[in-house]
Amino acid sequence: MEITFTNHQIQTPDNPTIPYIEGDGIGPEIWTAAKQVMDAAVRKAYNGKRHIEWKEVLAGEKAFNQTGTWLPNDTLKAFQTYRIGIKGPLTTPIGGGIRSLNVALRQTLDLFVCLRPVRWFKGVPAPVKHPENVKMVIFRENTEDIYAGIEFELGKPETDIFRHFLTDEMGISKVRFPESSAFGVKPISKDGSERLVRSAIHYAITNHLPSVTLVHKGNIMKYTEGAFKNWGYQIAANEFGDAVFCWPTYLEIKKRDGKRAADEAFENAKTQGKIIIKDVITDAFLQESLLHPEDHSVIATMNLNGDYISDQLAACVGGIGIAPGANINYDSGHAIFEATHGTAPDIAGTGKANPSSLLLSGVMMLDYLGWTEAGKLIENALEALMAEGKMTADLYSQTEHATLLTTPAYADAMLAKI
Ligand code: NAD
Repeated sequence: MEITFTNHQIQTPDNPTIPYIEGDGIGPEIWTAAKQVMDAAVRKAYNGKRHIEWKEVLAGEKAFNQTGTWLPNDTLKAFQTYRIGIKGPLTTPIGGGIRSLNVALRQTLDLFVCLRPVRWFKGVPAPVKHPENVKMVIFRENTEDIYAGIEFELGKPETDIFRHFLTDEMGISKVRFPESSAFGVKPISKDGSERLVRSAIHYAITNHLPSVTLVHKGNIMKYTEGAFKNWGYQIAANEFGDAVFCWPTYLEIKKRDGKRAADEAFENAKTQGKIIIKDVITDAFLQESLLHPEDHSVIATMNLNGDYISDQLAACVGGIGIAPGANINYDSGHAIFEATHGTAPDIAGTGKANPSSLLLSGVMMLDYLGWTEAGKLIENALEALMAEGKMTADLYSQTEHATLLTTPAYADAMLAKI
């Protein structure tokens, strides 16, 4: 049955149809493991009254081999119709019209939020001293910025046209080596920024999280990244009123009534459970999130910053092998949950793949469906397994006194804990 979306709420039937792409490389191995565990958790949580009707759809190498196209229309249609889906990693086609299948999926379905929750599981080897303090949820804008793919290659006729436009029509003389420059365009819109920040604040409110940090490089890119920050603050104040306390308000009070009054207003806001909306310049954030990760909770940022930040924070808690992710349109309800790593061709077929990233993306999906009890069972099982040091090769190789499990054995160990 189809999942519906009314009044900004997902309505999940007891047997929703969910399209999945198993993915290339290690995709089939991690998908088999993740599916078994998700099915068992749903069965246990709801005494067999609910179950997912999985519907395979094709993309990547499997699609190319069977249909001659990397991303068949039927796949896009299925995600459109059934609203929520999940996918393994896909090989990026070399040559041809598609730059990246993931980017094509995100753009076609306008999945404007790339959601990456980052937390540590006890027992997982991590490079920082206190990985338990890293508890952040990243809202990365998914459709704009230099990822829009508007680039002009050196030596191409369109690049000359673009350069002449800049120099002759716009009178710009700041390009250091105009004749040997390639160019990229960075669109950041008010609409795109507002819907991203709005979704992040909603998430913070729904999940009782203390703050939203707008991360930007607005000190240099004033009209794109700086505007993102300003539009973010505006939407917080205009649409969320008393539910939030914005940092510019702190600065206003400080200027008008002094620091003590501003500190008091800030403390009062926290006591009243208001969400603190603040901002940090990107480079400072990369440092601060290592030194004081406990100061940040929900992060709202643009596409390129979000890419860097997601990988840094994932590394802090043990690497992207276990980091989950989702691409979501909170206005239509459409969402695709996904493993955040690639196809790992070097270990495909060896039983070394860690299915945790896909599995935790499955937990995010179950939560999104409102089936939080099933998600919790999986999370608890994973916590128990990591605490016992039962690990796949990627984590085992970095951990003392751990037990090495193959991908199927890892799935069995998870099933035994559900
Ligand atoms: P990769 O993530 O596939 O591999 C990087 C390293 O991490 C490898 O050593 C690999 O063995 C290891 N690794 C990754 N996932 C693992 C897992 N679940 N368990 C254990 N080890 C794991 O990155 P890559 O090698 O740069 O890319 C390979 C292919 O994947 C390329 O075609 C790339 O375009 C594609 N890719 C797809 C996605 C996606 O679909 N979301 C993301 C990144 C890369």
